Amino acid sequence: MRQPELTADGVSGHEWDVVVAGAGPVGLLLAGELAGAGIRTLVLEAAEEPSTIPKANGIVGRSARDLAKRGILAGSGMRVLSPRRFQFGPLALDLGTGPGNPLHILPIPQRRLEQLLEDRAIASGATLRRGHAVTGFTQDASQVQIEVRAAQGAAHVTTAFLVGCDGARSLVRKHAGIGFPGFTSEEIARIARVTIPGEAIARVDGGFDIRGVGRVAGMRPNRLPGGGFSIAPVSVLDPSAPADLYVISTHEPRGDAEPSDRMLVDELRASARRVLGADLPFTAADAIRSTVGNSRHADAYRVGRVLLAGDAAHIFNAGGSGLNAGIQDAFDLAARLVATIRDGATADTLDGYEANRRPAVERVLDHTRVQAALTRDDDVGRALRAVMGELLADRAAARTAARLLESA
Ligand SMILES: Cc1cc2nc3c(=O)[nH]c(=O)nc-3n(C[C@H](O)[C@H](O)[C@H](O)COP(=O)(O)OP(=O)(O)OC[C@H]3O[C@@H](n4cnc5c(N)ncnc54)[C@H](O)[C@@H]3O)c2cc1C
Repeated sequence: MRQPELTADGVSGHEWDVVVAGAGPVGLLLAGELAGAGIRTLVLEAAEEPSTIPKANGIVGRSARDLAKRGILAGSGMRVLSPRRFQFGPLALDLGTGPGNPLHILPIPQRRLEQLLEDRAIASGATLRRGHAVTGFTQDASQVQIEVRAAQGAAHVTTAFLVGCDGARSLVRKHAGIGFPGFTSEEIARIARVTIPGEAIARVDGGFDIRGVGRVAGMRPNRLPGGGFSIAPVSVLDPSAPADLYVISTHEPRGDAEPSDRMLVDELRASARRVLGADLPFTAADAIRSTVGNSRHADAYRVGRVLLAGDAAHIFNAGGSGLNAGIQDAFDLAARLVATIRDGATADTLDGYEANRRPAVERVLDHTRVQAALTRDDDVGRALRAVMGELLADRAAARTAARLLESA
């Protein structure tokens, strides 16, 4: 189907069925699903270029399997796995092999996932405009009028539905007056890609021997007296990456620190020294940033013709669940929008989106909050780790915990 053109010349006057704000993984998947079903779909992305900041390393849970079932991974060389071991917060789950192992994961850098989803959305007929930020909107019973800011000037776009897939700080959510209750973590994570020369680090059983630091576990959190530390070679996900490139993160009490996308290398060095009790021998660092965990859930997923999906609707304070939940939002919402726009389904169909997603996301909030509590550096945290560690040593219990990670 031929798509209408967006012009940035004041008022475009063109009508879209769905405008998606945000070309992250959730917005791009949603756009691909909609356009593939013949829905006239426009994606407006504020950033001029895709972000190069490393984010997710993979999808954990049923969404990995659902993407594969839908053929979205075909030809990508990406494979869904059932890992023998996985993490529940800082605790190891020994899941074994065979059909009793309930967990699916897809190791994939987020940027690669976004590229796959973008190619699919465009091939399906969606229009993507980068450098176009949604700045506001009004709605009535039949349409949404969106204000857009682009380098060429302001534009107005008319659509039947607007979906905010514009991330945790969602303008769409705020502008729609939807609250985002929950809490912010007391911990700050500092993350970077660093080069550690081969002579300063050696691979040992399941971990690394680092010069001056000693032995640390790889690919999972280390709890140390000074805080938490994680390290993983970038080449695990991207075989073309140099062998001496690692992703590291430190976790410490937040104090007065504010999260920043432009953290200085000195702050990273100082944090690593506090956590490890020694200097981490890295020679270069990039993509250095700090983040503070949040655990929040939107008050509503829909106000009239405006809907939310992905991080705009929910964020979790333990890693590995954001994409699983956001991808389920996109699949669920896409089917309902297609039924409403193309097949004339009643309003109940769209109401079912929140009715379906809210309880599933509440469950994810619960288990991510438990995972975060397990990392607490106090007596309660130590007690939780001791008791839960004993319980999860049982394979049946470990598989029950993995079923929580699988769901979304
Ligand atoms: C360091 C890090 C590691 C992570 N690791 C994992 C992991 O291993 N597994 C996992 O499942 N999750 C992980 N996550 C979480 C995961 O990255 C998010 O859940 C995911 O990006 C959410 O996708 P999204 O499409 O909802 O939002 P986003 O990816 O945040 O995309 C939102 C998009 O909207 C755009 N935008 C914002 N405002 C506007 C506007 N006004 N108009 C138009 N566009 C706008 C933004 O530029 C952005 O491109 C990690 C996150 C971080 C930061």
